[in-house]
Amino acid sequence: METTLLYLEDFSRLTCEATVQSIARENEKGVVALDATVFYPQGGGQPYDTGMIESPAGKFLVEEVRWTDGIVRHIGHFEHGAFAAGENVSCRVDAQRRMLHSRIHSAGHLVDFAVAQLALGWTPGKGYHFPQGPYVEYGGMLGDADREKLKQDIERIGSEIIRQGKEVSVRFMSKEDMRALCRFVPENIPDNKPGRVVVFGNTFGVPCGGTHVTNLSEIRGFSIRKIKQESPNIRVGYDIAGS
Ligand SMILES: [Zn+2]
Repeated sequence: METTLLYLEDFSRLTCEATVQSIARENEKGVVALDATVFYPQGGGQPYDTGMIESPAGKFLVEEVRWTDGIVRHIGHFEHGAFAAGENVSCRVDAQRRMLHSRIHSAGHLVDFAVAQLALGWTPGKGYHFPQGPYVEYGGMLGDADREKLKQDIERIGSEIIRQGKEVSVRFMSKEDMRALCRFVPENIPDNKPGRVVVFGNTFGVPCGGTHVTNLSEIRGFSIRKIKQESPNIRVGYDIAGS
């Protein structure tokens, strides 16, 4: 049975009740699968959550979370006790780590927004939203563009959005509706089922499966570290306040 991904509908949720589907051992670690989870598995350039899963029978420390063929694998070890399949457990995500990753990830979309606003014609690519040197990439050529000016323009637009404190929400919609709200809709999004769009202040949508801040003011501060050509892509390195 596939794991229900509770963070998809509500990324501010950090706790849930769930039922144990299976317990396994792999490479000296325990692997717990549940019917539903609030834990974010690594993916889309965002690191996994950590935290704990608990029942009266035991406490499992979640050190790593991975998604494989629809199943979320909570990897870690029992601090005490054990679970049995069918048992009800409580999950709790480490709030500080999740918040940091949500802020870094959301700041990457500030770059997306600024790039769209500046009509640079760059095509959104992958992002790397880890605390060590986060960046977003775009298909395109910098050529003889004034990099210092680009850096200032992106910083200015991103910082203005943070100052405005726009709300961030999630909507599920058809690919056709996505095209109306999002400046860029990747080709690999399926046509036949509603896709998840993260919407910033009602006007700027990004198809995305990650976790985000609920208000962009939570990013607090944002700067561009470096803009460089990594052919065939342009890589925009950015940082957030206090990380
Ligand atoms: Zn996102």
